[in-house]
Amino acid sequence: MKENNQIFKCASCQIQKKGTVIKKKVAVNDQEYNFIKGKEYRFCLNCAPKIREYNEYDLLNENPHLWEKYSYADAEEILEKEFGIKPKEEEK
Ligand SMILES: [Zn+2]
Repeated sequence: MKENNQIFKCASCQIQKKGTVIKKKVAVNDQEYNFIKGKEYRFCLNCAPKIREYNEYDLLNENPHLWEKYSYADAEEILEKEFGIKPKEEEK
């Protein structure tokens, strides 16, 4: 997700910047930057490519027992039932 011409402080390099903001949910906790997994932060164009993005489907890889618990469901259904994550609507 991008926003243009904002003044913001990049969550990674901690430099105040003006320009394009890239919002990303981070995939891993990070003590150095206080990133919390699954939370969204604002990054500059330089840092954003280095940030591993959180992916809801990782929850299924981390919790393989859910495939047995919901043996007839597909990935979207499990995410919604177990974590309350609704399938994303197509961006227009
Ligand atoms: Zn940065």
